[in-house]
Amino acid sequence: MSCQQTTPYYSVDSDVYHTCRNCTLGDNIESDKRRSGEPGRRHLCQRCKDIKAGRVTR
Ligand SMILES: [Zn+2]
Repeated sequence: MSCQQTTPYYSVDSDVYHTCRNCTLGDNIESDKRRSGEPGRRHLCQRCKDIKAGRVTR
């Protein structure tokens, strides 16, 4: 599985952001809490890192 790069997005109650559209954690964000754009002080989601590094197979 490869990262489907998109605008950074995150949940308002989380301190991580996602850049892969196909991140399963990002996909779990409730739509009313989801924001996209500048992630500020949030850090990149570990799963997004793994997807980009090719460590996620599905
Ligand atoms: Zn992610």
